[in-house]
Amino acid sequence: MKMDTSELVAMAKNARENAYAPYSSFRVGAAVVSDIGVFTGANVENASYGLTMCAERVAIFSAISAGAKEITEVAVFAESMPYPCGACLQVMEEFCTPECRVIVADPKNIKILTLRELLPHPFSKDTL
Ligand SMILES: [Zn+2]
Repeated sequence: MKMDTSELVAMAKNARENAYAPYSSFRVGAAVVSDIGVFTGANVENASYGLTMCAERVAIFSAISAGAKEITEVAVFAESMPYPCGACLQVMEEFCTPECRVIVADPKNIKILTLRELLPHPFSKDTL
């Protein structure tokens, strides 16, 4: 399944509306393309800060828990360029193809990278 880039970014931007970010006020939305469709997520913070979950992982876990087996595109949208954190890259490594497109966007910029560019030397199931 291939999605139009601007449409996928629009879905990430729309998902951001449901972000729960009362502590950082950094609201993030994500949309991922899987083998069974597109799933979205927003960041969800917690008073116990460490329990906060990023938008990318919310979207990926939503896809996997719905039965998806593979993610081929990830779009992330925030007010400033929301490059995925290390934890999200590690989760992407688990479920995304190495050539998975990672689209990072803010209101003025859009950058298209691959997972392998963002995480060139992964720890993966192949390591074990
Ligand atoms: Zn993250």
